[in-house]
Amino acid sequence: MYIKEIQSKTILSGSKIFPYVINPYVGCQHKCTYCYAVFMKRFTGHREPWGQFVDVKVNAVMLLEKEIVKNKPGRVWISGVCDPYQPLEIKYQLTRGCLQILAEHHWPVTVQTRSSLVLRDLDILQKGENFEVGLSITTSDDSVRYKFEPSAPTIADRVHTLDELHKAGIRTFAMLAPLLPGSEDLPDLLAGKVDYVILDRMNYHHAYWVYRKYKMEDKNTDGFFDLVEQTLRLAFKRWGIECFLARQFSTF
Ligand code: SF4
Repeated sequence: MYIKEIQSKTILSGSKIFPYVINPYVGCQHKCTYCYAVFMKRFTGHREPWGQFVDVKVNAVMLLEKEIVKNKPGRVWISGVCDPYQPLEIKYQLTRGCLQILAEHHWPVTVQTRSSLVLRDLDILQKGENFEVGLSITTSDDSVRYKFEPSAPTIADRVHTLDELHKAGIRTFAMLAPLLPGSEDLPDLLAGKVDYVILDRMNYHHAYWVYRKYKMEDKNTDGFFDLVEQTLRLAFKRWGIECFLARQFSTF
């Protein structure tokens, strides 16, 4: 793993999904095989495989302190092209520092992660106005998760994290994207732990080799995704959980 501390020029960027996005890191230790953020390699000159490098924006918190007073308040997405709670966050606490500033300035925030490390920052999340936290959960079958997301936290860990956040009064959602094989049990697993879910199919080609390797190509077709989406939507409805499709998003 190649880790480099860098000085970023800015930290609060515009986003197509929310008014702003903050990425405290470039690169991601979670190394998901389908990750669309691999395009970041083109912009940063990294030659290492995705998941083998991270640039740490060590001045992220200082930058946000300056930039937040110069910008109009708007929802901030943390993060778009990295997991803000990847293991390096234990040491650097950049996400924590940014959340602290956003809470102090009363800006709304959407956190999106795959990690239970977000529970470390419960004190700030509870202080924030209009903060919400989403866990990306792409399947209910941990053996499938391991094939596509070998370095990311387990499904049980993510479901537990949502449960803890929800019980602590935080608005929560699950990002079921990209939908991997074996997602049928997610409505039962998530019931009572999320306020809403977002669904999306596999929109990127990066992990096609995983489908081929494990002979799952039939689970990467329009017919498969249509059926799964329909089934999941009905199941979530039965639990009274709002369900959105996210075709237009460049989601995780
Ligand atoms: S999908 Fe998200 S968690 Fe997975 S490698 Fe990409 S940025 Fe990291």
